[in-house]
Amino acid sequence: MLAVRDLRSRYGRIEALHGVSLDVARGEMVVVIGANGAGKTTLLRAISGVQPITAGTVVFEGRRMDTCAPHRVVAHGVAQVPEGRQIFGPLSVADNLRLGAWSRRSDSRSNDKVLRWVYDAFPVLHDMRQRPAGSLSGGQQQMLAIGRALMSSPTLLLLDEPSMGLAPLIVRQIFDTLVQLRRDGLTILLVEQNANAALALADRAYVMETGHVTLEGTASAIAADPRVRDAYLGQGAAAQEH
Ligand code: ATP
Repeated sequence: MLAVRDLRSRYGRIEALHGVSLDVARGEMVVVIGANGAGKTTLLRAISGVQPITAGTVVFEGRRMDTCAPHRVVAHGVAQVPEGRQIFGPLSVADNLRLGAWSRRSDSRSNDKVLRWVYDAFPVLHDMRQRPAGSLSGGQQQMLAIGRALMSSPTLLLLDEPSMGLAPLIVRQIFDTLVQLRRDGLTILLVEQNANAALALADRAYVMETGHVTLEGTASAIAADPRVRDAYLGQGAAAQEH
């Protein structure tokens, strides 16, 4: 479904992606793990067209995306939940969600249908639909950011660190929702520093270090790899053994 090949991207003179390749098949949940600054965010932003690339290709369902403007990438079915949520605090929850549908060429009736689907997935957003988005808790804001991405009716959802800054119980809720969305047919590419939680859910995983993919495999094989356990699962792996 998604094929990324030899992707390179730079910030001025500094190259952040040194030729990254990655595949996501329809229906999969794939996770990219790696330390701060490894290039995970840059990779997601390059796939969704908001980060310029200097070489390589992004092909989604047989079409080149790396030559498309970001709104065209969304229109083709790829939606991104950005790092830090980026919701519009003064706007209501409902208005934030409606903004997620702007790139769809559809009538208000079909938008209302998608809105009902999002409210079914996140009942709390329905309860709080008239409230300013900025008054929601961190977990609710993350749900809103996911809901807003779903409003474009994507087939591939890209998520950048959805667990960031959230309590473990809330992280569990968010990840449970991702599992449910995947069951409903959505394909998911997830970037996470919370490697323990993400590897427990995903089908396959990639490990990134300083702009390179250094390991890839099934999530269970990556979770069992001693190098990954030492570098990324440290305390979590130790805790699970006791
Ligand atoms: P994090 O988990 O901290 O978000 P990451 O794996 O997502 O890390 P990126 O944010 O993609 O990593 O950063 C990759 C590299 O690019 C890092 O060396 C970072 O310092 C650099 N970088 C990221 N954004 C910018 C920017 N706007 N200007 C200059 N350099 C940047």
